[in-house]
Amino acid sequence: MTVTDFPTTASGVRSPIPDLHAPSPGERALAAARFQLAEASRFLGLDDGMHHMLATPRRSLTVSVPVRREDGRLEVVQGHRVQHNLSRGPAKGGIRFHPATDLAEVTALAMWMTWKCALVGIPYGGAKGGVAVDPATLTTRELERVTRRYVNEILPLIGPEKDIPAPDVGTDEQTMAWIMDTYSANAGYSVPGVVTGKPTALGGSLGRAGATSRGVQIAALQALARTRGARSPEGTTVAVQGFGKVGALAAQYLADAGCRVVAVSDAGGAVVRPSGLDVAALRAHAAETGTVHGYRDADPLSRDELLELDVDVLVPAALEGVITADNAPRVRARLVVEGANGPTTPEADLILAGNGTTVVPDILANAGGVIVSYLEWVQNTQAYSWSAGEVEVKLRDLMENAYRAVADLAAERDLTLRQAAHAIGVGRVAEAHRMRGLYP
Ligand code: NAD
Repeated sequence: MTVTDFPTTASGVRSPIPDLHAPSPGERALAAARFQLAEASRFLGLDDGMHHMLATPRRSLTVSVPVRREDGRLEVVQGHRVQHNLSRGPAKGGIRFHPATDLAEVTALAMWMTWKCALVGIPYGGAKGGVAVDPATLTTRELERVTRRYVNEILPLIGPEKDIPAPDVGTDEQTMAWIMDTYSANAGYSVPGVVTGKPTALGGSLGRAGATSRGVQIAALQALARTRGARSPEGTTVAVQGFGKVGALAAQYLADAGCRVVAVSDAGGAVVRPSGLDVAALRAHAAETGTVHGYRDADPLSRDELLELDVDVLVPAALEGVITADNAPRVRARLVVEGANGPTTPEADLILAGNGTTVVPDILANAGGVIVSYLEWVQNTQAYSWSAGEVEVKLRDLMENAYRAVADLAAERDLTLRQAAHAIGVGRVAEAHRMRGLYP
């Protein structure tokens, strides 16, 4: 897809849907991200030059990562780091280890990071990284070697003032510790601010591990309170797709707030219990066995069925492109709160809106992670640390302010929450571009 393929209708924000059926999931995610940008650009009245610049990543690096397997074989996998935009500050974005990740997917995810940081008002541009490996098939030592070699290859791009990675799908605190160590070994001194989502022993922030999920909870409770005939969380039924770092704690925090979490899924299967799951027991089961599948106090369910359950709130917290034109007509949740990045395709968005389903978009709903990453980086650069309570107050403040701005604009201009969130995020980045001017 080139910039000339972007949808450019003259009327309003409802543009025709471009061909979003690109061959790879990554290319479909990038088409979706560009579609959303085109809508926002149209709404904001940006000129074609500005739109083109925002649609194009500032820097993309693709690297080959040779990895020595335990049996002595040498394998080469591909990695990427994309810095989409740097106008508002250093680039910021997670690193994904997943066999299907490719440059297009990483570019889409980097673009969403740019709008997300601008939307919640933190001084970062957007970036993302990815390595096409399946961590489940690697030993810990192999994973460490892949991580360190990938970091070595992208070393010229990253740094606490340039580009700060964080965890994403398939990576965790341990991965961040290896990245910090590799970067620090090259620098010759410890540089904790080069990554966020580190273990607290290395300067990680209190509250970072659950921050994305806490943000999902805050966004869901805001949406419940503000959407048509405000309802309290008590008794609200919830289904969560994905039971990893984001999904498992989002389920826990929603249950803690009084919601009834009736179904969850992960790559290994799905389970359902209409009277409500014991999320803490389920987390213990998943920690022990690696999947929610086989949990005794629930019935098995197919992963696809989970998305179509008759629940009040659906939280997709796995991967992109899971709510599509095919299954959106059967989604019965009144509220979709996107823990994952890009789980709803633009075609599905239209169908859900037509059916009266409110979607709290990814760049708002899952922004808690990057907010506390920002707080971690601030603590690292000041060599200081805040209490868990202080971190949570700041997180809540930024999430609620962003939610309010998005909901107000949506109501004022008759937009979906996604359109309003993109209008604010894209608008702030465009404003930064205009104020800085063009060099040379
Ligand atoms: P993770 O690797 O910890 O968890 C992913 C989960 O999704 C796993 O439970 C996996 O089994 C499950 N999954 C994979 N395929 C599935 C399928 N077909 N059906 C059901 N479940 C499936 O990753 P994570 O960090 O929790 O990230 C999840 C999503 O949240 C991603 O879209 C990521 O970009 C986004 N996100 C993560 C963070 C963060 O701080 N980790 C922040 C913002 C957004």
